Amino acid sequence: MLQDVALNCYNIVQSYLSIDAESAVATTGDVIKQTQESIQLSRRYLLQDIFTRWDPFNGEISFSYNGGKDCQVLLIIYLGCLWEFFLMSIQGSQYDLQFHMFPLQQLPTVYIDQEDTFLTAQDFLQRSVERYHLSLYESAKDKQVDMPSAFKSFLSVHPETQAIIIGIRHTDPFGETLQPIQKTDPSWPQFYRLQPLLHWNLSQIWSFLLYSGEEVCGLYEMGFTSLGSVNNTLRNPYLRIPEPIGSMTKAETEHSDFQWEIENNYRGDSNMHCNEINENDLNTIKQHDSSEFHPGWYLTKDEWERAGRLARKV
Ligand code: FAD
Ligand code: MG
Repeated sequence: MLQDVALNCYNIVQSYLSIDAESAVATTGDVIKQTQESIQLSRRYLLQDIFTRWDPFNGEISFSYNGGKDCQVLLIIYLGCLWEFFLMSIQGSQYDLQFHMFPLQQLPTVYIDQEDTFLTAQDFLQRSVERYHLSLYESAKDKQVDMPSAFKSFLSVHPETQAIIIGIRHTDPFGETLQPIQKTDPSWPQFYRLQPLLHWNLSQIWSFLLYSGEEVCGLYEMGFTSLGSVNNTLRNPYLRIPEPIGSMTKAETEHSDFQWEIENNYRGDSNMHCNEINENDLNTIKQHDSSEFHPGWYLTKDEWERAGRLARKV
């Protein structure tokens, strides 16, 4: 049930916030501290500025989701905030928590299916639908239709939508001047863009996501850092392991900044969880470059995040 997932996400967030960054991790303590601050700011945007203006329980807000790491981080925080908002709404009630119904069964979500995406990413999206109880609107797959038109069609099916959550960050192309709450541009259908993740950097995204112990898209484990279409996305060249690596194993050639997060993850099993790479994807990827790559989370320079993207769609 969505209620259980929201509570679980709330617990993940609270657990991350309670890490004693200074004593726990000498190497990544600063990142953890900054991430804790980023979480608090995102929570404030959601609980104080967004949920007080649009009701998250009646369909006014939809969530744009493509299975990428950023919107997954935001989804976990968003669901945790839904739980908090639910608790706040029943505060002062004479009845105990167990007598109150969580007001949503599924989270309204929208995915624009325009590009030829990796089958692994499609599979991960479907797994997310089940895991997070998403009620997913998928646009008709039509490469001729641009994103604004796809959202226009979405709004004609879901006219109750007033605002859409987006996992965009300031370091994304054209993201620098965005605001946490703003209307869409004039050339877009009109609704509010809700962007509570703008201030997060790449290290913070990985620190939180790896600590969560949630399954992430398997393409990241292969060395992708940014997910686009099959035709324009390669593994990140900065993660290629130089040949020959001799007798050194992959893990020995470089050290991930987030070993602590993986070893102490919320799930408690000290493992990374990724969905399985599709065979066809594996062939395509290996055909292009048979080298070994470090996982995507070995790369923390925001400027290099999209180095594997061949062409940018504007
Ligand atoms: P990514 O990191 O891949 O995506 C950033 C976020 O966009 C994701 O976390 C996710 O929330 C969302 N997203 C990306 N791809 C999809 C998809 N296929 N389906 C659903 N959600 C997706 N640009 C403008 O110039 N003016 C606008 O007014 C404007 N309004 C937008 C409203 C919405 C609801 C969305 C989703 C996008 C809008 N954009 C607008 C485009 C936006 O600024 C990004 O350029 C776009 O999301 C692509 O992101 P990316 O590839 O740069 O980064
Ligand atoms: Mg992104």
